[in-house]
Amino acid sequence: MMKVDVLTLFPEMMDGVFRASILGKAQEKGIVSLNAINFREYSNSKHGTVDDTPYGGGGGMVLKPEPIFSAVEDLVSRTSTTPRIILMCPQGDTFTQRKAEEFAKEEHLIFICGHYEGYDERIREHLVTDELSIGDYVLTGGELPAMVAIDSIVRLLPGVLGNETSAVTDSFSTGLLEYPHYTRPAEFRGWKVPDILLSGHHANIELWRREQALKRTLERRPDLLDKVELTDQDRQFLKQLQNERESGR
Ligand code: SAM
Repeated sequence: MMKVDVLTLFPEMMDGVFRASILGKAQEKGIVSLNAINFREYSNSKHGTVDDTPYGGGGGMVLKPEPIFSAVEDLVSRTSTTPRIILMCPQGDTFTQRKAEEFAKEEHLIFICGHYEGYDERIREHLVTDELSIGDYVLTGGELPAMVAIDSIVRLLPGVLGNETSAVTDSFSTGLLEYPHYTRPAEFRGWKVPDILLSGHHANIELWRREQALKRTLERRPDLLDKVELTDQDRQFLKQLQNERESGR
């Protein structure tokens, strides 16, 4: 079972997300255990202080090192695993599907959620194994970013998604954006589902889906095409698309 611990000053923020839907079911099935821990409990001050003003002056409060070091050390002392200790922070590596796949192979993850102005730098330097950002924007705390990362990691664990193949063709998993989906009715307000999907011809459907994924990626995220492994057939199809575009057809 994968173990995920989240150190936060607002554990109640995790309640709904950890209990609902696929994450809730993954816990019921015993695939993952998700725990939110308030690191204020590890403060060594009478009033549970976890932050202080910055040395050198300036605005904002800085999270003190002691409570966060003590919380992580307590979690580590109670396990035989070697956890990845992940600091959520806008200055970290950008979280991607590749990172989700990498973390999904681990036995134990500990997320640290900041708040206020930031952390004492010694947490970054001497405690954590990873720093993760979910994008180039700043949130009030690391809780939402940690939940984003946990959701995308847990759905990759074997047995979590009902249909085992559905994560395999997801956008980014293949290196491409995913092909379009349709369901019943075959015609809705005059808009028809592409004939090929109703043909029952699996090989042709697979080819159509691959081509749609390539087309969509070329149109929306051409940067992804530089990193993905393409077959000769893929390249030929892309060339044809580009020729069609250039000739304005
Ligand atoms: N002063 C910090 C800076 O400029 O880097 C920003 C601190 S932010 C207001 C408070 C906390 O929210 C951070 O410590 C981090 O845990 C979290 N956070 C904010 N934006 C984030 C992002 N894009 N990705 C991950 N965590 C983020």
